Amino acid sequence: MIITRQREWQRVLDDLASVGARSVFVVGCGECATAAHTGGEPEVAEARERLSAAGFAVTGSTVPEVTCHAGGVKLEARKHAATIDAADAIVVLACGAGTQTVADAVAKPVFPGLESAFLGTVVRHGVFEERCQMCGECVLDATGGICPVTTCPKGLLNGPCGGMWDGMCDVVRDRPCVHVQIRERLAQQGRDVARTLPPKDHSKKLKPAKLSVRASGPSGSAR
Ligand code: SF4
Ligand code: SF4
Repeated sequence: MIITRQREWQRVLDDLASVGARSVFVVGCGECATAAHTGGEPEVAEARERLSAAGFAVTGSTVPEVTCHAGGVKLEARKHAATIDAADAIVVLACGAGTQTVADAVAKPVFPGLESAFLGTVVRHGVFEERCQMCGECVLDATGGICPVTTCPKGLLNGPCGGMWDGMCDVVRDRPCVHVQIRERLAQQGRDVARTLPPKDHSKKLKPAKLSVRASGPSGSAR
């Protein structure tokens, strides 16, 4: 899931001031931002209170099921057309993709209320760890399911680097070196620990990515 955190509140207020907004509509997200406790019903209610306390008229709010779904957000915008029309600006408590989806759907200034931090795993309730940088050419098949691109602070595909000491990371000293972990896991599985990965093909990560899996559309492409 996309892990988000609260954007510095003063920045949100400054954004609203930049367009002279006096009234605001708030959008949350029922998926990732709800799980991250940044854009679910309680956080949207809290944002409404903070906006009211700051002197804004809050015309309404909604928490779409999935805010990065263009069709669903358009329907939601239609459902709330009157209260969105009454607002000078929209604040979105969702990831950057969700915020852009809302900006496409409504003809108002739209501002992010959150920061998109990373793509992560829910380790346990309320605890998240970054696990993937969506590099477009996954190496987990060769690394025992541990991502060195994301988990090694130097992003080294092969390691350990010369700074590893006693199995611990050169950069984040209280963490095991990911390449030691990879070797241990591969050894446990009786697999080749000496394999060296070739350089990554960074053209796989050219932006903006686009992918269609529609039967009638062009064949799927990550670019
Ligand atoms: S190798 Fe690339 S795609 Fe695979 S988990 Fe790591 S960053 Fe993500
Ligand atoms: S010690 Fe291991 S995890 Fe840390 S930077 Fe070096 S190779 Fe990467």
